[in-house]
Amino acid sequence: MKVSELLKAKKSRGVKGISPSSTLRQAAEMLLKFKLGALVVTDQSNKMVGIVSERDLLSAVASRDPLAAETLVSDVMTRTVISCSLDDEVTYLLHLMNENAIRHIPVLREEKLVGILSIRELTKAYELLQIEADTDPLTQVSNRRPFLKNLDIQFENARQHGHPMSVAMLDVDHFKRINDTYGHDAGDKALQELSRMLIREFRSIDLVGRLGGEEFALVFPETDLSGAYTACERLRSMVQSKEIAADQNRIRLTVSIGLTGITEETPAAAALLKRADALLYVAKNSGRNRTMAEGGVEVSSKGLVQSKEPEKARDHGSASPVGNVR
Ligand code: GH3
Ligand code: MG
Ligand code: MG
Repeated sequence: MKVSELLKAKKSRGVKGISPSSTLRQAAEMLLKFKLGALVVTDQSNKMVGIVSERDLLSAVASRDPLAAETLVSDVMTRTVISCSLDDEVTYLLHLMNENAIRHIPVLREEKLVGILSIRELTKAYELLQIEADTDPLTQVSNRRPFLKNLDIQFENARQHGHPMSVAMLDVDHFKRINDTYGHDAGDKALQELSRMLIREFRSIDLVGRLGGEEFALVFPETDLSGAYTACERLRSMVQSKEIAADQNRIRLTVSIGLTGITEETPAAAALLKRADALLYVAKNSGRNRTMAEGGVEVSSKGLVQSKEPEKARDHGSASPVGNVR
């Protein structure tokens, strides 16, 4: 994000100058009047010689000097003035300001002062950028990179404390048909609704990520296989009973889920995902619209079934009959 965009979004865009021989009382009056956080200090030839901010005023007041308000701006102002241009990147400026320990930076356009930004404003913009980069724009859930990072953190945490943790992979059944029948926009709408269900149905500590197209991954911290299985089944039956409205159409989805849990043998977080994916594959090949959990228990819309596939599921390749691929 460039400084120009940040400045455009800023409510109070004024930038005011004050002379170094003004008092802090005068500076305070200006800051209040124009609702600013800092003023640029300029000399007679209009050259920037410093910056005086709310914080400088606070320091003077905190000194308990009864004459603090009469202190001159030149006595407290920050003399290091590094300015930036409208084309500078927020991330670059944050770096620059941290390195030089400065809290405000004037913005120049062709030598003319057009604004002043605080490190707090830049930090906030940076944090928003991070959130945007980590969020899938269609569904508003985490995208792959932050999801995998958080999975790693949860895995290490569970392992360190010997706590349970479960991981699931979920894939929409025959989603291509949904797109082909109702159009891509309706497909998008269906994915948005599904994500809403995922967020609403699971606890706030559970992680939801969109790993690709119509494929989502879930992490259930502090949850053993049977607890996670109940949660997945609740979600699955909710999805199947929900009608999604897209234009004049009423769309129904089903999902298949592969579910596994951490054991002492689990070498790394990635192995859990791989295993959940293998079980998802088995769920697909066993008829879809079901949760295939580690150990071979599977519940389909028709009721509880003891799977014949669990051992095969450990081998991604052999568990998938030809012609029935996901
Ligand atoms: P299966 O039950 O085996 O999973 O069948 P499927 O049709 O869901 O599987 P396949 O992987 O063949 O098709 C996935 C489809 O998802 C194809 C692709 O066009 C669609 N898709 C992927 N991402 C998006 C998206 O963001 N929006 C929409 N509308 N469709 C998407
Ligand atoms: Mg699919
Ligand atoms: Mg898929």
